[in-house]
Amino acid sequence: MGLLNKRALVRQLQKSGIASRAVLARSLGMSQPTAGKIVDELIADNILEEVDAVEAGDGNGNGATRLGRPGRQLQLNRSQPGFLGIHLGIQETSLAELPLGDADEDRWRHSFRNPATKSQPVAQWEAELREAAKKLDSKKFLGVLLSVPGIVDEPANKILFSPNIHWSEGQDLPAVIRRVWNLPALVVQEERVVALGHHFNNPEDENFLLVDFGEGVGGAAIVGGKPFASPLPISGELGHTPALGNHRRCGCGATGCVETLVSTRGLIESFSAAHPKSKKTWAALGDHIAATGLEPWLTQSLDAAAVAICAALNVLGLRQVVITGSLAELPPAVLDYVSRSVQNGAMWARFGSIECVGAPRCRAAGLVAIGIDRLVVPETGDELDSKLKLSRGETSRAKPSKLNPATASKNEIYIS
Ligand SMILES: [Zn+2]
Repeated sequence: MGLLNKRALVRQLQKSGIASRAVLARSLGMSQPTAGKIVDELIADNILEEVDAVEAGDGNGNGATRLGRPGRQLQLNRSQPGFLGIHLGIQETSLAELPLGDADEDRWRHSFRNPATKSQPVAQWEAELREAAKKLDSKKFLGVLLSVPGIVDEPANKILFSPNIHWSEGQDLPAVIRRVWNLPALVVQEERVVALGHHFNNPEDENFLLVDFGEGVGGAAIVGGKPFASPLPISGELGHTPALGNHRRCGCGATGCVETLVSTRGLIESFSAAHPKSKKTWAALGDHIAATGLEPWLTQSLDAAAVAICAALNVLGLRQVVITGSLAELPPAVLDYVSRSVQNGAMWARFGSIECVGAPRCRAAGLVAIGIDRLVVPETGDELDSKLKLSRGETSRAKPSKLNPATASKNEIYIS
């Protein structure tokens, strides 16, 4: 019960940003002594902090002033980092010190190149992490959150397969992190992080497919404000959908994946094939598009990405697409084209509307949301069990699931 109340209080502050003890107690239906005790514990744990601010009240003319704590307001701690965020990119690893109340993307201040040699890459990565740790302002965190691409078994804290970072496969990188910081460490699939980050910063967006373009291409669905729960630990791999007529080899071992066309590297490769005398850079590609518009090699690649997006929308039953990452750095005509192509292809657009918008990539916010959910106010085993039943379509009235118990495993819980 204590944890439930604690979680309700933290979630309320995530939504409202700031509130007094009295307003929090009232809005959660708790007695003031109960809410006060929880608040005191959360302040002692550095999860909340008290600040002087104008009382917002609860909308019914009931502010804290009347109840004796004029001006003192609570918020998620912004003064000190709550989590250490680490992002394993294809080329670089980046680190950010993340306060619970301020998940600004500018916080990715430290980075190092990933191991270049095949000899003991994990040991090299650990050595780089130790060096990076010395440069951080803070030594104390509630935990470390690692965002990685590829197929991730989140409950087992392992990377199963990584098309672009093969050295990370089969590795327990959180164990490496624990050797450096001696703190709880979780690994999370990067597209799920970015999708949760978008939801964290835009709570009104509860159902959407997020597609992130960059060194790779991935997608993750948020349904009812939660990451879409799937029985297999594979969720973000939209980029590894084959595009007809594409013969490029992909890092995943297949041929023709759409990622090889629309990742930053794929687009630069096509640009340079069409214009061999141009510079092979992202900036040169942007300048070229701004000067000449969208050429057929580009629209064909964008259409291939739109086909994969439409297939996902048609099956998942979603009408909102949020596009983040590198495509938004190109002239707006590129995103406009993708948006039109998705509207043309998605079935819902024939009698409803499809919304396809560009948005900033909120990786820091996603990690904070996951850290709060899984480290600060984690769900209990019973709650996870009931969610697992829901995700399988089981309810108290439903017949028992036909799922073979022999194949059921803890891997089937993918709830952040
Ligand atoms: Zn692939």
